[in-house]
Amino acid sequence: MKHFLEDLNEAQKAPVLHKDGPLMVIAGAGSGKTRVLTYRIAHLMEQGVDSFNILALTFTNKAAREMKKRIADLVGSSETKNLWMGTFHSVFARLLRYDGDKLGYPSNFTIYDTQDSQRLIASIIKEMGLDKDIYKYKQIQNRISSYKNSLITVKAYFQNPELLEADAMAKRPRLGDIYQQYVDRCFKAGAMDFDDLLLRTNELLTRFPEVLLKYQDRFRYILVDEYQDTNHSQYLIVKALSDRYQNICVVGDDAQSIYSFRGANITNILNFQRDYDDVAVYRLEQNYRSTKNIVNAANAIIAKNKNQLEKVVWTANDEGSKIKLHRSTTDAEEGRFVASSIFENKMQQQLPNSHFAVLYRTNSQSRAIEDALRKRDIPYRIYGGLSFYQRKEIKDVLSYLRLVINPKDEEALKRVINFPARGIGQTTIDRLTVAANHYNRSIFEIIENLDKLELKINSGTKRKLEDFVNMIKSFQIMNKGADAFTLAEHVAKKSGILLEFKKDGTPEGIARMENIEELLNGIKDFVEGQKELADATGDLTEFLEDVALATDMDKDTTDMDRVVLMTIHSAKGLEFPYVYIVGMEEDLFPSAMSMNTRSELEEERRLFYVALTRAENQAYLTYTQNRYRWGKLIDAEPSRFLEEIDEKYIDNLTPVDNYRFKPLINSDIFGEVDKSRLRQKKPSNGTPPAAGRPTQDQLRKLRKIRPNIGEPTSGGPMEMPDLSVGTQVNHTRFGKGKVIKLEGAGNDKKAEILFEKGDVKKLLLRFAKLEVL
Ligand code: ATP
Ligand code: MG
Repeated sequence: MKHFLEDLNEAQKAPVLHKDGPLMVIAGAGSGKTRVLTYRIAHLMEQGVDSFNILALTFTNKAAREMKKRIADLVGSSETKNLWMGTFHSVFARLLRYDGDKLGYPSNFTIYDTQDSQRLIASIIKEMGLDKDIYKYKQIQNRISSYKNSLITVKAYFQNPELLEADAMAKRPRLGDIYQQYVDRCFKAGAMDFDDLLLRTNELLTRFPEVLLKYQDRFRYILVDEYQDTNHSQYLIVKALSDRYQNICVVGDDAQSIYSFRGANITNILNFQRDYDDVAVYRLEQNYRSTKNIVNAANAIIAKNKNQLEKVVWTANDEGSKIKLHRSTTDAEEGRFVASSIFENKMQQQLPNSHFAVLYRTNSQSRAIEDALRKRDIPYRIYGGLSFYQRKEIKDVLSYLRLVINPKDEEALKRVINFPARGIGQTTIDRLTVAANHYNRSIFEIIENLDKLELKINSGTKRKLEDFVNMIKSFQIMNKGADAFTLAEHVAKKSGILLEFKKDGTPEGIARMENIEELLNGIKDFVEGQKELADATGDLTEFLEDVALATDMDKDTTDMDRVVLMTIHSAKGLEFPYVYIVGMEEDLFPSAMSMNTRSELEEERRLFYVALTRAENQAYLTYTQNRYRWGKLIDAEPSRFLEEIDEKYIDNLTPVDNYRFKPLINSDIFGEVDKSRLRQKKPSNGTPPAAGRPTQDQLRKLRKIRPNIGEPTSGGPMEMPDLSVGTQVNHTRFGKGKVIKLEGAGNDKKAEILFEKGDVKKLLLRFAKLEVL
């Protein structure tokens, strides 16, 4: 059997075989950085390094799981169980469960998601009597988050005159007080937000040298994927942990740094050589992912950026087809184009849905694409937007479960203390909150001690509060012996949540009930999965942590054959045979928020580079002339990025004869645009063109981005072959075969063909590349 090192080229082998000491792999997209990381771990283990001593940090937990599986395949062992692998957040949450008590946190601390943080901040703003139009809770949450990511504590904030002045200028002089309250309240609730997971890890490693030493000794080998997107907080953790043994391996691509809005700092990669002694730098140049056309076009795009490290990327792969460019009139039409193109490619090439991805700049763009895919019955999976775990009914059930583990969890308690309704009103909750702040206790503890406190709460309400607390306590007792599934099922019933939605009876209520069932199924799966692991029990704490840190990508069950819809940001590191990049328009991509400075525009361009380099065989770029944004139909201009791609890489699908001026009527309101009417419309500049034809000036402008203008276009549907059952045919890809069944009519006519190679395929005749023999 051949050894796994033979799966690598020479340039890739070098960093894999590199002995001890710091190393960095800098290379363009698709050149095998992630592969190098995976193989390096396998190699270390083969060399006798205990997997217990390896830590790998990845962009998603799913990537970590896949890497683990691959390593297990390579080294053929079950040793991978001890590998610590995952996102920064999940790895350090785990570390804090062991050692967070030194900072005063319980080991069962709750993780607040962004929504919890925002609710808490909103309630603090209200309690402080501040104007909610000036103190916007989402903005404040954002600010606090960025302070935390830059390690600006409350104390540091108050000592920083510039920050104080900036917030005073923004008419928010109380921001520091909100920050203080927020931190105190999270702490009191035994909760950490996402940023705390990094901030507190840093605090722990700085304040407790013995803890630092313990983990330095444990993680003798540290590996980081996508290093270009680490933020300051993450950088410091990696630096501290690797300080003793210096066995740090980072891989990244400065041209793919796309998270600066979240505090990622590209200088981490640029300064790596300065931060460690004797850094070995490796470069990979061969791209294995994409066709020549895609690689070359992507190279040309990124070359427009001034700030970047010199890099070469080439590929030995086929030339491939050109990038297809499509223009539509409205976003709905754009969606229809994408859906039919996916459908055609699927039928023509006999591909599964999962070979197709649609990427967009912002989440809201998915709606039009989703509508079109649904109409075509093409199954899809969407990442981003409201994740499953953030749906109301799911958060309700999870809040009960969180309370079972940590009754101090204020956000969970406020969510469900009166859901389902049990007659506990907002005034009561406000009074309890005031008392909790006053006595520096949690609301739960206040309720437990109601008899001893003089609160203005009547005896009827008191009894209801006590009933609630007793119910949670009964769940806690049960939790001692039951697994997460048994408990969750019990809680969903006994809390009354299931009944509440059942009673509701509306389609929405039924959907919510089904979602809860889905959640329970998920918990069951989780429990089964954990049982196979050596160091897991499948209890509730483990499940809640898994949920809190699940990124959108992680919920993916790989066996699902669906088209993937996601933002470009979350597509990082992934690859698909067919990629559609939609909404290539000014103000959308590049985003209106990010074109003020060169560096913002360069980040948008890097984002475009990331998007295009996800494609293996074929990339599509689409844009529309009118788009609904913020509830209004607006004119859209083609993105400047389109002009930046050399014409020779582009195949324009929108022939000039179809060129239409922007419709003065709205096709979405009036249904399909009546093309004959449109042709008679005057364009807005007043000079009537010949029917449907653009003026010379417009042509010139168009030509800049659509090179093939004026030339006849090819690639339309082919003439349908005349077939009957028994006809012998030849297919360009599948070879010779015989028609065994025909169905449908007209454009929908399909043939089932038994090919000589043994497989049966159903082809849509309109597109099938068949020759009758
Ligand atoms: P990105 O910058 O997008 O994260 P990357 O540099 O991490 O890309 P990988 O994802 O590791 O690149 O590799 C890209 C593709 O090329 C993968 O499908 C991988 O399996 C394949 N590949 C990498 N190296 C080789 C090789 N030596 N032989 C064959 N296939 C390879
Ligand atoms: Mg990668």
